[in-house]
Amino acid sequence: ILKINGLEKTYKSGSKQLTVLQNVSFDVEKGQTFAIVGPSGSGKTTLLGLSAGLDTPSAGTVELCGHNLNTLNEDERAQLRNEEVGFIFQDFQLLPTLTALENVSVPLELQGAKNATSRAKELLEKVGLGDRVAHYPSQLSGGEQQRVAVARAFSNSPTILFADEPTGNLDEETGEKVIQLLFNLNEEAGTTLVIITHDLDLAARTQQILRLKGGKILTNETTVKI
Ligand code: ATP
Repeated sequence: ILKINGLEKTYKSGSKQLTVLQNVSFDVEKGQTFAIVGPSGSGKTTLLGLSAGLDTPSAGTVELCGHNLNTLNEDERAQLRNEEVGFIFQDFQLLPTLTALENVSVPLELQGAKNATSRAKELLEKVGLGDRVAHYPSQLSGGEQQRVAVARAFSNSPTILFADEPTGNLDEETGEKVIQLLFNLNEEAGTTLVIITHDLDLAARTQQILRLKGGKILTNETTVKI
């Protein structure tokens, strides 16, 4: 469902060039749970952005859900994301002026969904926030905010979900709840999960672990289940 081939990303700052990804190639199969690990600055977030077509590579190709992203224009990439991709960010990225319900329903409305409000309510109930729909993000705990972000990421029934440190700002117990929601989605709907994490215990629960260091692949290993 995701094929990365010879990916390279170089940032220019003034006269200097900074290569943050080099010769990165790997595949994620449909329905797979896949972790990307590596030290801070190793290029994980950059790789996720390129994988989802939020950014363009300096060299190499990304094939997402059967589409070579290099051949799509900005609008086509956005449409592909709307239809196939979900995102969860470390810092939640909820809109502060919208309620929990609106944070989930408004993107659905923008995508032209019918019954956006009832679908949003249903999703919030699923993540255990049925009694918090009218709360604004500032009135929710970190874990509750992340669960709203999870509901929003699920809202378009994505075939692939990218999560950048989804538990990074949460305590262990709350983080576990969020992770459980993600794995349930994988099991129930077959959603492919690509998770960036510093948490090696979490990585060990996925099927495949890609290790990055200094923008290069160190290892890409199938997890051994014991
Ligand atoms: P962390 O675990 O700390 O989030 P990461 O592995 O996700 O790190 P990236 O955020 O992908 O790492 O960053 C990789 C490198 O690219 C870093 O050295 C960063 O400073 C640099 N970088 C990221 N975005 C840009 C940008 N827009 N312009 C210039 N350099 C950038």
